[in-house]
Amino acid sequence: MAGNKKKKTKVRPLLARPGARYTCFGDGLCCTDIHGIGPLTKKECAQMRRIDRKSAGWNDHHDDYMLNTAADGGCVFLMSDQRCAVHAELGPEAKPDGCRRFPLGLVATPVGGRITTEHRCPCRTMGDRPDIDPDSAESSVSEGGRLIADRRIKRVPMRANKEVKFSEWEAIEADYLRRLRGRETLMQILETHSFPALRGSSWDKQADEFIGARDGSQFGVAMAWVGDTIRAIQNGHTPRPPGRPWSPAFDRAQARSPKARTSREVFGDWIADEIWALKWAEDYHFALARAELATRLTIAEDICARLRESGSRADRAAAEAVMMVELVGESDYWTEVKDRMRAS
Ligand code: SF4
Repeated sequence: MAGNKKKKTKVRPLLARPGARYTCFGDGLCCTDIHGIGPLTKKECAQMRRIDRKSAGWNDHHDDYMLNTAADGGCVFLMSDQRCAVHAELGPEAKPDGCRRFPLGLVATPVGGRITTEHRCPCRTMGDRPDIDPDSAESSVSEGGRLIADRRIKRVPMRANKEVKFSEWEAIEADYLRRLRGRETLMQILETHSFPALRGSSWDKQADEFIGARDGSQFGVAMAWVGDTIRAIQNGHTPRPPGRPWSPAFDRAQARSPKARTSREVFGDWIADEIWALKWAEDYHFALARAELATRLTIAEDICARLRESGSRADRAAAEAVMMVELVGESDYWTEVKDRMRAS
C-alpha cells in the first residue's frame, strides 16, 4: 500500500524536479494569514513566546499551537521590509521548523528524497529564479541535522485496485512531465473531466461552504474567490469576486520580474509539482488525482481569465489563481470534496 512506512524508501540522494525553480525574494506572502502559520511544537511555541509573549499560543480553530498574526494579517515578527525579525536578530535556526521548511517539502521514495514545493508564494511562481539545488535545500528539510520526510511512497496507485512499482511510475511520470513542459493544453494532458460527481453533495453546495469560510483572513478571501468561481462555472451565476488583499506581495513579485511568462507556463509548472509531490498517492489514485487537478485547474483558469480582463499581467494572474486553488486544495473543505469524489 502506498505510504506504508515499513516498506523500503529512502531520503538520499536528494532529488529536485528538473525545471523546478525557487528562491526566497522576501515577497512576504507566506508570513501572513494567507494560511495558518504553524503548527508549532509546544517547545517552539514557548521559544517564540519568550521573544514576544503575544506572538504564539494555542489556536482553537487549528487545534494546535500557532503563530499569531497582527491586525494587518502579518505574523507579529514580520517587519515592514518583509524580513523576519527572528531570522534577522537570532538567525534562521531560531525560527520554528515550519517557517524554515516552507515552501519546501520532502517525500521519501525507493530511489531517494524528492524535494517538493508549494506554489502559493510568488517567490515560487513568478520571475527569474534559479533551479532548486538539492544541497541548498537540505537544511530547510532537516530537523536537528536529520532529513525529515513528509511522506513515504513505495508503490503508486494508478486506479482503484491497481498499483505499479515505483520504477514503472517514474516512466509514466516522465512522459507527463515532458508534456507539461511543452505546448499541449493542460486539459489534454490530464485526459479527464473536471467537476466529477460528488457523493451526497453537489458543487453548488460545496461552493456555498467555501464562500461561508470567509473569516476576515486572506485565506477566507481566497476560499470565497474559489466558491464564487465554482458557482459561475456551474450555473452561469455572475461572479462577485471579493478583493485581493494579497496584492502587495504580488506587486513586489511583479516589480522584480520584468519578463512576463505565460499563464500556461505557470499552470504547467504547478501541475508538474502536484504530480511530483505524490501527496495524492497517500490516500487515493492517479485517475482521481487527475480529475481533482483538472477541477482545480478549470477554476484557476477561470480566475486567471477574470484577473486578465481587469488588467493583470498573464503570469501574475495565473500565479494569484494558483495561490487560491492551492490554498483551497490544502484545506479541510477540499478534503471533504475529495472524499465525496472518491465515494462516487
Ligand atoms: S516567525 Fe518569521 S518566518 Fe515565521 S512566519 Fe513569522 S515572520 Fe515569517
